[in-house]
Amino acid sequence: MQTSRYEAPGTLAAALSVIGSDPGAMILAGGTDLLVQYQSGLRRPSVFVDVKRIPEFMAIAVDDTGVTIGAAVPAADICAHPIIAAWWPGLVDAVSLIGSTQIQGRATVGGNLCNGSPAADSTCALIVNGAVAAVSSPAGERRIEVEDFVLSPGKTVLAPGELLVSVRLPKPIPHTGDAYQRLIPRSEMDIAVASVGVSVTVDEGGVCTAAQVAIGAVAPTPLRVNEAAAALIGSRLDAAALAKAAAAASAAARPIDDRRGTASYRRTIVGVLTQRVTAVAAARAKER
Ligand SMILES: Cc1cc2nc3c(=O)[nH]c(=O)nc-3n(C[C@H](O)[C@H](O)[C@H](O)COP(=O)(O)OP(=O)(O)OC[C@H]3O[C@@H](n4cnc5c(N)ncnc54)[C@H](O)[C@@H]3O)c2cc1C
Repeated sequence: MQTSRYEAPGTLAAALSVIGSDPGAMILAGGTDLLVQYQSGLRRPSVFVDVKRIPEFMAIAVDDTGVTIGAAVPAADICAHPIIAAWWPGLVDAVSLIGSTQIQGRATVGGNLCNGSPAADSTCALIVNGAVAAVSSPAGERRIEVEDFVLSPGKTVLAPGELLVSVRLPKPIPHTGDAYQRLIPRSEMDIAVASVGVSVTVDEGGVCTAAQVAIGAVAPTPLRVNEAAAALIGSRLDAAALAKAAAAASAAARPIDDRRGTASYRRTIVGVLTQRVTAVAAARAKER
């Protein structure tokens, strides 16, 4: 059986050097996907490159224009961060659904994104908040909108030798609220049948001036649904507008049948969730 080495570099340059010199190397963040895949034989990295000793991977940096979350910051730290909770309660909705308390002590948003699952809980919440991924390689750094990051199940835009360093969220403008919900077949510790993230901004009169809607687990990748957002913009986020947005989300879904639900069920559920999640985001926007 092939053995795997373990390395824990202390700098980004050292991590890039390891993954650049060994095509079989894989990044280890929390390991809650990778180690399960390793145990089952699905992935056999020649070297695990643990990035948790690299300071920028473990930092949450707040400034006047937004927050940068290191790719290896545990979910528990994200949920407990007062600025993140105040600015993006919908991101906290999503991250706090990942696994369990134990899983959240290790699991990261970076790993959730790089694993490339269409059902990854944090990805839709990042998309609706305009998150941008910072990716490094020996050739330098590039920035990729999170909505463009996942290409197909398990496949991302990361090229060999590249790694995700952090995710940046721009500070929300006043009267903006976000929310995220998913449906799973049991009460916890399962993968979404369908999920929805929404961000809306309202003016002083309660009219929606900006909106973002993203749907998960109903297509090969998480999807931003511009038609659903367009149905909300200009409305008072009333029942008719929410119903139009729901219809647009259902129409944009390209689900499959599997043991968690049929395609038709998923299409229905994603519409129901769109209405519910938009109502929560709207209430949060009006409170701020
Ligand atoms: C019991 C259990 C329950 C779970 N429940 C949920 C759930 O409810 N919702 C959900 O979305 N997920 C769930 N998951 C899956 C998993 O916990 C999440 O996807 C988690 O966010 C992965 O993060 P991680 O840090 O553990 O990633 P890892 O396992 O460390 O990495 C995942 C993948 O991303 C790559 N990677 C990680 N970081 C980087 C980086 N910086 N640059 C490049 N590549 C990188 C790794 O090489 C690997 O391929 C669950 C897992 C378990 C075991």
